[in-house]
Amino acid sequence: MMITGKTKVLAVIGNPVAHSLSPVFHNAAIRKAGIDYVYTAFPVDNNRLGEAIAGMKAMGISGLNVTIPHKEQVMKYLDHIDKDAEILGAVNTIVNRAGVLTGYNTDVKGFLSGMRQIGYAPKGKRALLLGAGGAARAIIWGLIQEGVASLTIGVRNVPKVRPLVDYFRKYMEISLLDWSTPAFDEALGQAQLLVNATPLGMYPHVDAMPPVNWDKVPKGILAYDIIYTPAETLFLKTAKDHGCHTLNGENMLVGQGAEALRLWTGIEPDIQVMTEALRHALENK
Ligand code: NAP
Repeated sequence: MMITGKTKVLAVIGNPVAHSLSPVFHNAAIRKAGIDYVYTAFPVDNNRLGEAIAGMKAMGISGLNVTIPHKEQVMKYLDHIDKDAEILGAVNTIVNRAGVLTGYNTDVKGFLSGMRQIGYAPKGKRALLLGAGGAARAIIWGLIQEGVASLTIGVRNVPKVRPLVDYFRKYMEISLLDWSTPAFDEALGQAQLLVNATPLGMYPHVDAMPPVNWDKVPKGILAYDIIYTPAETLFLKTAKDHGCHTLNGENMLVGQGAEALRLWTGIEPDIQVMTEALRHALENK
């Protein structure tokens, strides 16, 4: 569709943002749906975030994705905050409804849709999560809402993560363990879902992986790595060789974008088209 004066504008803001793959797969979905939108990227300096959000209102920008380092700071400039975003303390999507800005966090739905797409239901499963940074918060909240039977988090620095676990304790009892201890190995032996939310193994450090004692891991469980570069991390390769089902972070990335597009436009985006556009962009990176 031709871009005209009526075309509605969507964008991602961040610092830096030029490397973002979001414009590629959002525009693919927009083209496929034949809707009059365009998706671009605006670099926003850390001290100009308020101006950027005022500009969104002033110029009637329909929607924004928000990425590092603005996800937390942006909240104070918005009119409403959706529940998931409130609980996570971070916004990755802003919807402009007639000048009223609402902040959402679509990472939760993105993480869950990754598993839904392969027909895996976390409900009633014993889940084990590696790492407890920004992405892990969305994963913890998603797994709690799905009704996992138990949730264990393995990290290298337990005291650092204790406040996060205490925060989510009002929703579910969570076990927090140092991943180099026998207690963690025991939890591994019970796991039915193993999620890597550390950057260990992400390009260019492809020879790294979280310290999992694979002998303890039950065969046939799902190993989910939210990294998408490379498509098969050492964690996923080792899991596959061990007899696990595997899932990488592509579905999550596309899933959080698809949810944002639903919120902005009301369309049901073509996930396949978005995934193909993402893969094509990754191959040409
Ligand atoms: P983050 O906030 O920096 O958290 C990373 C976590 O991994 C922390 O718990 C950190 O522990 C741990 N960690 C980092 N380096 C480590 C090391 N060398 N040894 C042991 N533990 C280490 O990062 P994030 O934003 O959550 O992102 C994590 C990964 O997820 C990245 O690879 C990112 O690309 C990916 N991701 C994917 C998607 C998707 O849509 N597929 C979305 C978001 C993120 P400390 O606190 O002790 O450092």
